Amino acid sequence: MAVDEFELIRHYFSDLGNDKSGSVRLSVGDDCAIIAPPAGYNLVVSIDTMVEGTHFPKGTPGDKVASRLLGAALSDLAAMAAVPACFTLALTLPETDNVWLKAFSTRLSELASQYGVRLVGGDTTKGPLTLSIQVHGWTKPGKALLRSGAQPGDRIFVTGTLGDSRGGLETILKHITGEQVPYLQKRFFNPEPRLDTALLVSDFATSAIDISDGLLADLNHILVASRVGAMLHPAELPVSQSLYRWVGEKQAREWALGGGEDFELCFTVPLLSEPKLAWALREHDVAVTCIGQITETPGIVLAEEGKVWSVEPQGYNHFSEKGVNR
Ligand code: ADP
Ligand code: MG
Repeated sequence: MAVDEFELIRHYFSDLGNDKSGSVRLSVGDDCAIIAPPAGYNLVVSIDTMVEGTHFPKGTPGDKVASRLLGAALSDLAAMAAVPACFTLALTLPETDNVWLKAFSTRLSELASQYGVRLVGGDTTKGPLTLSIQVHGWTKPGKALLRSGAQPGDRIFVTGTLGDSRGGLETILKHITGEQVPYLQKRFFNPEPRLDTALLVSDFATSAIDISDGLLADLNHILVASRVGAMLHPAELPVSQSLYRWVGEKQAREWALGGGEDFELCFTVPLLSEPKLAWALREHDVAVTCIGQITETPGIVLAEEGKVWSVEPQGYNHFSEKGVNR
């Protein structure tokens, strides 16, 4: 990178976020960061990459890229019911655009402080705009929510509303304006990792995943890992008023099932634990909706008004021609 690489790191990325878990011993500035895991916890690690033109349109302002990038990365920690601690940032930039960098680092800093994570290091190179965040968090051994624990009879739940992000992307790509557009675009650029919800349900949930490729595709990962199937009730899918008003029920449902990048949680809870779920969520401000149940028969079926039909668990897949649905 240019001679001012170190100046750029110092200016924008040397003191960003806060370390709520109190585990960072050495942050940006040396060859490595040093982290002291809290006694008795396991380290949970995940990385997410965004490429301009693939994950966000060319010309997207830095603040929107920042919220999308950190939100998506932290969503993976939420899916494991991990407590976030810190992250590293790999930046490949075509040029030093100070307006873009300021917007990016300011928003990243706000959100990192909000979620209690600290930026502890990274790498800065020159090239086509590409950004990776690796997040690090903690779980108690045996307490992480895996994809493999769902059992026949478990109820399937999702957080928030589904399909908004897919709607938001559509409005961006087709330059659509209108009353519902700001909300939908906010849902695309500003995913809200469901870290608190995950911690509240982690004692009794049997499996979890975050919805990044679309509900059907991601639920299917749980089903395959747990060797079970699912019956879903499309009429129960939580859809926002904005999406419903903009595209109507049929399209909203399709995007709720297959649209990607909701970054909501999908998790399973045994029928007998439903009272615990209700109690755990009694003061929680994120909606949690039951959308179906786990079955013994593999595959996904939809059930509505006495009719039952099976669906393909499609989703967004970067290297598959078949699986791409947008
Ligand atoms: P090295 O050459 O030893 O790998 P670098 O010169 O790449 O180190 O980075 C210097 C310091 O700045 C390191 O502490 C590194 O973690 C940090 N750093 C580099 N790029 C970033 C970035 N984009 N965000 C945060 N920290 C960064
Ligand atoms: Mg070094």
